[in-house]
Formats: sequence, structure tokens, C-alpha cells
Amino acid sequence: MLTNDQLDKWDRENFFHPSTHLAQHARGESPSRIVSGGSGVYIEDRDGNKMLDGFAGLYCVNVGYGRQEIAEAIAKQAKELSYYHAYVGHGTEASITLSKMVVDRAPANMSKVYFGLGGSDANETNIKLVWYYNNILGRPEKKKIISRWRGYHGSGLMTGSLTGLELFHKKFDLPLDKVVHTEAPYYFRRPDLDMSEKDFVDHCVRELEALIAKEGPDTIAAFIGEPILGTGGIVPPPEGYWAAIQEVLAKHDILLIADEVVTGFGRLGSMMGTTHYGINADIITIAKGLTSAYAPLSGSIIADKVWKVLEQGTDELGPIGHGWTYSAHPIGAAAGVANLNLIDSLDLVDNARVVGSYLNQSMHDALSTHANVGDVRGEGMLCAVEFVKQKDGRVFFDAGDKVGPQVAAALAKEGVIGRAMPQGDILGFAPPLCLDRAEADKIVDAARKAIVSVL
Ligand code: PLP
Repeated sequence: MLTNDQLDKWDRENFFHPSTHLAQHARGESPSRIVSGGSGVYIEDRDGNKMLDGFAGLYCVNVGYGRQEIAEAIAKQAKELSYYHAYVGHGTEASITLSKMVVDRAPANMSKVYFGLGGSDANETNIKLVWYYNNILGRPEKKKIISRWRGYHGSGLMTGSLTGLELFHKKFDLPLDKVVHTEAPYYFRRPDLDMSEKDFVDHCVRELEALIAKEGPDTIAAFIGEPILGTGGIVPPPEGYWAAIQEVLAKHDILLIADEVVTGFGRLGSMMGTTHYGINADIITIAKGLTSAYAPLSGSIIADKVWKVLEQGTDELGPIGHGWTYSAHPIGAAAGVANLNLIDSLDLVDNARVVGSYLNQSMHDALSTHANVGDVRGEGMLCAVEFVKQKDGRVFFDAGDKVGPQVAAALAKEGVIGRAMPQGDILGFAPPLCLDRAEADKIVDAARKAIVSVL
């Protein structure tokens, strides 16, 4: 077996890590971890640490680690048929079965699913389909996409532009001209402390209306949003937000893309985040929870209204010029089928609702009175703690204070993984949906100790 020192050397010399300070990593100034095993809600590393993974990898290992049912389904598929493409009508039992299972879990107005590999490429697909749709309908000028500040939709060319976090835009020359950003539905950060939740929703609606009027409704093709802001800070929408936004979109004939990469398949305690919040989407993006990350697979679920136009397009133009070699990869599809079956048989959607609510309530009870905890919020198996310099008057930390990373590091010393969200002053949790109450207690206890040790 290779030694840790050997692996560390190759890691620093050869491995280009995503979302990493490259220079610090290469110089050996930042920590690295070689993860070697996982079981249930725990991972282990090569230094012998066993950690409760309170973020399920990157909110994706929804059924937990080490599920033999999925491993066996993957092995069986690899032995029987490791690969065949899905072009020009080809399929496999796994990909066709999974399409049926996904559609059965999607809203009633949707009956088709395209399979990609990850959330970013699924959203790239969605934008292409929206543009194709408007071209086929003879509205070539209706192309801009509205996204929200703090939204996260990936880091591809178009999806990096959609993502409303500046870190993902800086110096990359993304095609930002096709994207316009609007207000994040982030009540805790409302511009005026005196605003009620209802006032704030009205404010978001006014901002959206003003943006549409400024750009011209005939130039706006779609609005993309996560049912609950994820990477932007784990922020549930204020009451009435989605109903009000959808009214505006309908008025201007703007399609709605619901990015359910995080929320799809149970994380909010409902099978889909769209149904959880009464969102009638035209396209739904799925990824992470589709396979619980046992293999890469994503999807775009298409409403019948959009599908009809896509069919019309291919009658006019021939086969749709879109597809990846690995679209609907049989191994990913086999993992997806086993994963969705497991979610049902273990009743994990309900567990996410019940234990998620317990986790959120316990976190609130343990931390909300701390002088530097400004907000404790969440929904289902998502939970966030936002830090403030001073509660009175809501004085925020500066990004340079790095409170989130410090607390996350202290948390790791307690044996629990949480995520310092990219804004710097939020600690996020998104545990596997199979978390039990004792494990939730462990997360809360570790969070309390870590916060007290830093702040
Ligand atoms: N959309 C959302 C809501 C996400 O949270 C993510 C990733 O975290 C993505 C899209 C991008 O997915 P991927 O990293 O698989 O490309």
C-alpha cells in the first residue's frame, strides 16, 4: 500500500483540485485529507480519523455511505454491460427504468427526462433547451436568463454566469451578457431591518418587475432558482415568495427552471422541493440525490409544454444536436435505480422531515442566544448558522474575518464535518437523509463547542 507521504507528494505535485487555493495547496500550506472509507453517516481518513459527515460530501450522499445494494447494482451493471450510448434511440434497462422512476416522482405535468452527468452540465442543457424552444417558437430575441444573487447553478461557461456568487465570475470572462441577476430572497439580509417578511417579498417582486421592465420582457427567456438557496447560504424562501414570483413570470411568459440539484429526492422532507414550495416549473434540474453520488448522473426533467415544442423542432430541423457520450450512462442509471429504491424502502424522505426538523430545532435551541449567532435556519435536512459581529443592529463580519472557516475547523476537531459556506460567515449542514436523532445531537453538540471555542 502506498504511504501517506507518497500520496501527499503526488497530491501536491499532480492533482488539480476544484475550488481550492492552488498556490497554497502546492506549497503545502493548506490542509489536505485522504479519505479512505465511509459507512452510514461517517467517513474515515488515512490518518485514522472517523468523522460524522454533516454535509453528506457536497450535500449528495443522501442514503449514507457504504450501501451494499447500490454497490452491487453498480457491479452487476458493469459486469453485464459497462457502457452503451443513448444516442438515436438506444437505451438500457437501467436508463429506461430510471426515466420512469424519475417521472413518477416529478410533478404531473412532466413526463420526459434527459440524463447528463452533473448539475452543471444539466443546467447547461436546460439553457440550450430554453433557447431552442424560443427559436422554434419564432422569438429569437427572447434569450436572457434571470438568476438570483447568491444562487448556485454550477461552474460551467453559462452556469458559472448564472451562479450569483462573484468568486465564480472573477477573471473567467464568462458570457455574463446573457444573464441578469435579481435580489436573493434572503430575509435575514433584507435591506431594511424594519421590513416584515411580507414587505420583503413585495420588495423582491418589485425588483424582479423592474429588472424585466428594464431589459424588456421580450428579451427574457427564463428564470432559474433553487427552491431554497443552497450554496448561497442555505436560505429558505420567505413565506409567499414562490407564489409571488411565479405570478410575475407567468405574466411575461418567462419559463421557470427549478434547480433541484440539492433538493431533489428528499432533502427538504418532501420528494421534490418544487412540490414542497408549490413551484410549477417548466424544467427541473436534478443530480446529487439522484444517485446519492454513488456514480455521477444528472437530469433535466421537462414539462410537457416545453417538450411539445422540442418535438416540433426536430420535425422541422432533424435530430436534436445535443448529447454527451456519457448521457444516461448505464452504471450511473443502475446506481440511480438502486438509490431511489433504497430511499423508498428506508422511508428516507420522511426521516429527512422528522429528523431534519429535530436537527433544526435543536440547533436553534442550543445556539440562537449566543451573542454572535444572528440566525439559525433551515428546512428538512438542511441547516445553517449565520454569524454576526454584533446582534444589535445586525452588524456583519467582514469576509476577511474568516469566521466560518475557523468554526468549521474547530468543528472538525470535534469529529464533525460542516461546511463554511463561501460567504465566509455561515456554517452549513446537510447530513445524509438517514441521520438519526443521536447523530443529530452529536452535530449540535459539536457545533456549540466549536462556536464557543472561536467566538
Ligand atoms: N445546482 C445546484 C443547486 C448545486 O448546488 C450544484 C452543486 O453544488 C450545481 C447545480 C452544480 O452541480 P455539479 O457540481 O454537479 O456540476
